[in-house]
Amino acid sequence: DKLVYMFDEGKSGMKETLGGKGANLAEMTRIGLPVPYGFTISTRACNAYHDSDKKVTDDLEHEVLESLHHLESVTGKKLGDVSNPLLVSVRSGSVFSMPGMMDTVLNLGMNDDTVEAIAGLTNNPRFAFDSYRRFIQMFSDVVLDVDAYFFERFLEDFREKKDYATDPELTAGDWKEVIVGYKEIVKSHTKRLFPQDPKEQLFLAIESVFDSWNNQRAIIYRTLNKIPKHLGTAVNIQSMVFGNMGDDSGTGVAFTRDPSTGESILYGEYLINAQGEDVVAGIRTPQPIQTLEENMPAVFQQFVETCNRLESHYGDMQDIEFTVERGNLFILQTRNGKRTAQSAIRIAVEMVKEGIITKQEALLRVDPEQLNQLLHRRIDESIEINQLAKGLPASPGAATGQVVFDSDDAELLAKDGKKVILVRTETTPDDIHGIVSSQAVVTSRGGMTSHAAVVARGMGKACICGCDQIRIDIKKKEFYVGDTVVHYLDTITIDGGTGEIMLGEVSMIDPQLSEEFQELLSWADDERTLGVRANADNPTDARKALEFGAGGIGLCRTEHMFMDPARVPIVQEMILAENFEDRMIALTKLLPMQQEDFSNIFEVMNGHPVTIRLLDPPLHEFLPDKEELIVEVTKLQIMDPQSKELPEKELLLRKIRQLDEFNPMLGHRGCRLGVVYPEIYMMQAKAIFYAAALQLEKGFDVTPEIMIPLVGHVNELKLMRIVVDEAAELVANETGKKVDYTVGTMIEIPRAALTADQIAEEADFFSFGTNDLTQTTFGFSRDDAESKFLQHYIDEQTLPDNPFMILDQDGVGKLIETGVNLGRKTKPALKTGICGEHGGEKSSIEFCFEKGLDYVSCSPYRVPLARLAAAQATI
Ligand code: ADP
Ligand code: MG
Ligand code: MG
Repeated sequence: DKLVYMFDEGKSGMKETLGGKGANLAEMTRIGLPVPYGFTISTRACNAYHDSDKKVTDDLEHEVLESLHHLESVTGKKLGDVSNPLLVSVRSGSVFSMPGMMDTVLNLGMNDDTVEAIAGLTNNPRFAFDSYRRFIQMFSDVVLDVDAYFFERFLEDFREKKDYATDPELTAGDWKEVIVGYKEIVKSHTKRLFPQDPKEQLFLAIESVFDSWNNQRAIIYRTLNKIPKHLGTAVNIQSMVFGNMGDDSGTGVAFTRDPSTGESILYGEYLINAQGEDVVAGIRTPQPIQTLEENMPAVFQQFVETCNRLESHYGDMQDIEFTVERGNLFILQTRNGKRTAQSAIRIAVEMVKEGIITKQEALLRVDPEQLNQLLHRRIDESIEINQLAKGLPASPGAATGQVVFDSDDAELLAKDGKKVILVRTETTPDDIHGIVSSQAVVTSRGGMTSHAAVVARGMGKACICGCDQIRIDIKKKEFYVGDTVVHYLDTITIDGGTGEIMLGEVSMIDPQLSEEFQELLSWADDERTLGVRANADNPTDARKALEFGAGGIGLCRTEHMFMDPARVPIVQEMILAENFEDRMIALTKLLPMQQEDFSNIFEVMNGHPVTIRLLDPPLHEFLPDKEELIVEVTKLQIMDPQSKELPEKELLLRKIRQLDEFNPMLGHRGCRLGVVYPEIYMMQAKAIFYAAALQLEKGFDVTPEIMIPLVGHVNELKLMRIVVDEAAELVANETGKKVDYTVGTMIEIPRAALTADQIAEEADFFSFGTNDLTQTTFGFSRDDAESKFLQHYIDEQTLPDNPFMILDQDGVGKLIETGVNLGRKTKPALKTGICGEHGGEKSSIEFCFEKGLDYVSCSPYRVPLARLAAAQATI
């Protein structure tokens, strides 16, 4: 296989061999744009170099010299020649761009002799010596490992000595003096002379680019961005053009559209009389690209045409690097430009209208994950912020509020119309009312999938987790970051998209679903075949879901309705009941409350299906904390044994102890509650049917889908189905309204997936509860896994991803596939969906599409993302 390709031998499709930069240089050469000629050493050569103990193989050396020879004959210049020397740049370039990760050397080929030749040829000694000293500095920094700092300090001292304020004041003679000093620096740091042989320079530079593939920065970047190590980097050797030849020269960078808003205008900047790095280095302030029109009208004209050409050639917004040498334009790089979500959407939609791309292409242009940026309030980025602390960006969005440390406080203050932010070490299901009442949640412990994070994301609330810089003193109601004390009710602002916590108020902008955004999503709806539903437990969420385009509710959790503080005492009464009669008294009180909840949701969801899951969590979640109660009871027993409260509290404690489980996640929960206490599920089912009957009466279109959780054996479902059917019949007889409904189950226990053919006999639909299915398949308890060992697994690559965030397709996915196939063997028309966190994650959505599921269900705020991802899956 060839190891080196001239620019006219490649094309844009060869990124894997030539790297992104090399492939695009080749492509631009091919379509006739002014690209300085050169060649690209392939990524294969980089791998061969690392495989052979960091030796440039004979094959590679041979091919490089041959290509160099060809470059020399095309340019009419020769590397190291003293009459007409060739100078080149050596530029790294991997398949995926790794900005700033690897280095570039300019002006290679300069030495004590060629510099004189350049001075004579250009009749510009100042330029020649300036270029030579730049080369020494860059080459030493990148290749010889002498920090640029030493050269900069030397130059600073030199300017001071000469009383110069800026570099342009230095004469050719000055630069010559600087070069002598620079060479001294090299000698003292490397114990050798600066290499004068251009071929030696060239191979040292090539090796150094190869080596940079494995430097610390690159390794970290690759790990973060999941770029495989075996890809290697290419090396581009390109003849130099000079932007530092005077006022008719310059260099710059431009985007063909505005990367932050998407507006179709040229966006960029340039510097007159400057070379490469100067624009980014920030030494001189560049000018906006528009002023190039006055400074160099002909060049500007040509540049605009080139930009249009590149944009329509690649069919995407381009990020272009260019240099002007004595009035001649050269293009040095082009690539698809990075952009904000807002910009991505606008560009994609406008490019369809301009006939540059198709709707399908437009749909593929926007990263579903990026849409998150647009669906939450966020910090106005034009304003400078003062960061107090930083944690994990667990749920995007920005919020300002007064600090509270406990969920009851949060609720009380919110009822008073206050905006609060709940700050806790971590949250538990007991904090739901606090989270609901808060603008945002901050925890000092826990990861991106901790309770607080999951709940906050589900509600579309900003959340920062695992912020270990803050220390909370619950008693004093304060938290500390270093020396700063933040008191109860102090105002803070957080940005859940970046993890930043700030003191005081920071100005914010509201989320807008722009016209372009709506339009793109409507194209997605035309394209997709996979349904998208939302997980919603109340009318507010249900309305949000519809607004964001959900086709129904895929999971309505009834336990959140039990957690309403006004109902908790009745729920506790139900749990504490010692016999059926007492339990029925409590259930009878709960029925109208649940009925009203369902009624409201049905009204909002008029015409859309609503899947309601019957009670799922272990009952003790609704009881007070055991440890706290023990303390209370003990205190009373000692201090006030006659207290009237005591017997009541002792009873409560006894019940809590009875319900206490070693492993509640695998304990008495889900349909196991319904099997032992069918009256609970009966009450819930009746509430659903009464509500449905009422809304039917009012003319709403209602189709409840009743879902039985945690089924592992078909008999469990069979029993619960009888309960539901009985409730339906009772209500139909009583109200005279027959409600259309279906009964299905969650598949969240491996046994259910493996016996799905049997379970399908009793089920009208399956909904894969992938949160629990992941727990039960891995045998991981989610909360323990995430706080104890999962991060270690991911860091060490024992697991590729957190399976609670990205569906484990090999294991959990196989169970889903098995479940779908077995279920449909029994009932070909069986409806299937998923309703775990994964329902809003793009790779998992694609998986669901491929396995033939009917829908995914996710939090309302992720519905737009899911619509787009579902469309992308079909393309
Ligand atoms: P990066 O990947 O960090 O952007 P590049 O390889 O693109 O590094 O090089 C940085 C800059 O160096 C380019 O934008 C360009 O201005 C300058 N440069 C690179 N090669 C040449 C060349 N052959 N002639 C003139 N300038 C060059
Ligand atoms: Mg570049
Ligand atoms: Mg579950």
